[in-house]
Amino acid sequence: MNDKTNLSRRRLLQQVATGAMLLPLAGVPFANAYAADPLVTPDDPTAKALKYVEDASKASGMKPGSHCGNCALYQGAAGSAQGGCAIFPGKQVKAAGVCASWAPKA
Ligand code: SF4
Repeated sequence: MNDKTNLSRRRLLQQVATGAMLLPLAGVPFANAYAADPLVTPDDPTAKALKYVEDASKASGMKPGSHCGNCALYQGAAGSAQGGCAIFPGKQVKAAGVCASWAPKA
């Protein structure tokens, strides 16, 4: 790697870091900067097959205390209201929801 490549990489990293610092000033919380994925709807075929519900307290046949927020497949940040799930690529689930694929976090 030559000096020109190192300089370009350094400038790119500086620009990314600067952009990340400016996101809150633009009214975009960093954790939500990529939170544009739509929520899974109850009529989604996969959601129906897995008996996904948005409110785990109303689910039947699920392990007591289980919900998306404490599932190993949940990709949202700790304490988030909603986030991604490995079962539903490109969509989000509610942290309070649950489905039949729930698995405890390690
Ligand atoms: S796999 Fe886990 S995070 Fe995904 S919908 Fe089911 S319970 Fe929620």
